Amino acid sequence: MGRYHVKFKCCQCGHCCTDVVCLPTPWDVLRIAMNTGVDPERFLEFLTPEEITGVDKNDPTWLFVGDEQYMMALRRDETTGCFFLDQRTKGCTIYEHRPLLCRLYPFKLLETRGEIFKGFSLHSDVGCPRHQDDIFNTDALYALYLDDKMHQDDYGELVEAFNKNKDTNQRPEDFLQLFVEIERSSK
Ligand code: SF4
Ligand code: SF4
Repeated sequence: MGRYHVKFKCCQCGHCCTDVVCLPTPWDVLRIAMNTGVDPERFLEFLTPEEITGVDKNDPTWLFVGDEQYMMALRRDETTGCFFLDQRTKGCTIYEHRPLLCRLYPFKLLETRGEIFKGFSLHSDVGCPRHQDDIFNTDALYALYLDDKMHQDDYGELVEAFNKNKDTNQRPEDFLQLFVEIERSSK
């Protein structure tokens, strides 16, 4: 564990862009949509608890539609991986705009019980080979962590507003209207 450094070197194995489900925040979605011009409904999918592992059933970002619950994720194909993965180069086509979780992977944030930042370590259960033959400076990760913390309550409020809507015709994709449409109409 390191407050400022973690022993790690990415060996470009491709696992995180192929096998791992990425959960973007609404701010990730807006940034990607604005910078790529791609409609969010094309690059997102909404997954049920059976289709996703490692997310607590009580996580505050689950969207409820009827008897089912959904989590917003980047669209992914079991074989070819993330929607934004270049199949020829195996690089990320939206690297500058990629979601926060992609930037944090494979690091795990450590906080005290009182939610005071302690540092970063390598996740032990996300499938990364975790080569430790270099030193990774975590300054940029800390800035991202602060950014994310600022947005957490806002994300919760958006989900709450969506979950309050009891319209039986509501689809999980309609969650996008709560922030994408608002952003579009503000331009
Ligand atoms: S957005 Fe980019 S970095 Fe993130 S999983 Fe997709 S291809 Fe990988
Ligand atoms: S899984 Fe780990 S080693 Fe492989 S590409 Fe992702 S960060 Fe790099």
